[in-house]
Amino acid sequence: MFTVNRRNFLKFTVATAAVAPVVGMPFIARGAAAAGQKVVVVGGGPGGATAAKYLKMADPNLDVTVIEASEKYVSCFLSNEAVIGERTMDSLTIGFDDLKKHGITVVIDTVTGIDPVGKTVATKGGKTYAYDRCIVSPGVDFKWGAIEGYDEAASETIPHAWKAGPQTLLLKKQIESMKDGGTVVIVAPPNPFRCPPGPYERASLLAHYFKTHGKTKSKIIILDPKDDFAKKGLFIQAWTRMYGYGTPESMIKWVPGAEGGKVDKIDPKALTIQAQTEDFKADVLNVIPPQKAGSIATAAGLVNDKGWCPVNQKTFESTLQAGVYVIGDACVAGVMPKSAYAANSQAKVTAAAVVAALAGKEPGTPSYVNTCYSIAGHDYGFSVAAVYRFDEEKKEIVGKAEVTASDASPVMLKREVSYAHSWFDNIIADSWK
Ligand SMILES: Cc1cc2nc3c(=O)[nH]c(=O)nc-3n(C[C@H](O)[C@H](O)[C@H](O)COP(=O)(O)OP(=O)(O)OC[C@H]3O[C@@H](n4cnc5c(N)ncnc54)[C@H](O)[C@@H]3O)c2cc1C
Repeated sequence: MFTVNRRNFLKFTVATAAVAPVVGMPFIARGAAAAGQKVVVVGGGPGGATAAKYLKMADPNLDVTVIEASEKYVSCFLSNEAVIGERTMDSLTIGFDDLKKHGITVVIDTVTGIDPVGKTVATKGGKTYAYDRCIVSPGVDFKWGAIEGYDEAASETIPHAWKAGPQTLLLKKQIESMKDGGTVVIVAPPNPFRCPPGPYERASLLAHYFKTHGKTKSKIIILDPKDDFAKKGLFIQAWTRMYGYGTPESMIKWVPGAEGGKVDKIDPKALTIQAQTEDFKADVLNVIPPQKAGSIATAAGLVNDKGWCPVNQKTFESTLQAGVYVIGDACVAGVMPKSAYAANSQAKVTAAAVVAALAGKEPGTPSYVNTCYSIAGHDYGFSVAAVYRFDEEKKEIVGKAEVTASDASPVMLKREVSYAHSWFDNIIADSWK
């Protein structure tokens, strides 16, 4: 029997993500819905694009339309490499032409409203689209003003770089122009947020950049409202090995909530930061604000009082609006993190559930998958991986993630970097091609 331990699970997912999406979509029914039934997908990110593609693969009779606000999708995943100039923006940019080859209609427009009673979606461009089922994958938006002084206008000079594109380039430019001996302050967000290891990967890669660009006196301070973070042990180990963590010369300083890391206020002109017990001054300030579901979810009545979308975690149908499914960063998905891989996996489960529902069948029993790689330095990567299941009693997605062993060899750490890069190619192929 094939047992999924961490080692063969990683091999399996890296090798098969693009071609054989077995995990996450084991039960799809083919060609079962009546011809011409309509599914409208809001958002063409990894959640929306994957859902559209797998719907069409499962049932070519379905009429599938993706409505996406941007002409091209720019990936946040691996964008931390772009911040330090080790990856081009082009390599992060994905068009929708290949998606269209599956027979999917792609409309570039912004969805402004969803009417779950009339079953229509309205757009900024003045169009209305009827649907039998609607899948919403709008990603996140920011809680502007949650940190006093940091609003959308302030983000024009103080990047969050948590949505890739011009923000990524702005942070890159500021990092490149910072003098040796300067300080980058990263303000990390509270849970839950997009890409839990992301801020710490960014700090690591900035240290790597300074170390390899003759700016060894530069420092990175992470101000954090939390006392723990994803893959913390592995990050601290990497920082200790490569960047002097734990010594007075450390390039990285992490200030947890318990030591006053929560930031109350910033001054966007002076680049000063008022944390709970101390004030800081930055040369480059990177504020990653608290987050909530993408704003269309609020407009469509899909969010709870915390700003996220509760769903039936077996099908991803909203518990607030029948016939509307929410996936990806915007939804509440048990213990699954907000990641592109999770969005891709949830999209397959949802595609199967929608095909079943349109054919008048019960959804099957899904499994879900996620692996998140982090690159912490030259030839130095690690990951967290899990296969999740739906717990019928708790009515929640459950599962235990495992991380790279702390005694992993240098060869293994180097291999994880190549896994990260091949994962990136595979997730793009699996979602958009
Ligand atoms: C620095 C960083 C590193 C990351 N690294 C990784 C990683 O290594 N691995 C990983 O798995 N994940 C990673 N992530 C997380 C990943 O980017 C997100 O989890 C993922 O993009 C979520 O996919 P989504 O489809 O839910 O939303 P998104 O990717 O945000 O896509 C949403 C799409 O919907 C569109 N949209 C929104 N509202 C509307 C509307 N009203 N009308 C029309 N279109 C709309 C948007 O334009 C967007 O294209 C990283 C994130 C960051 C910030």
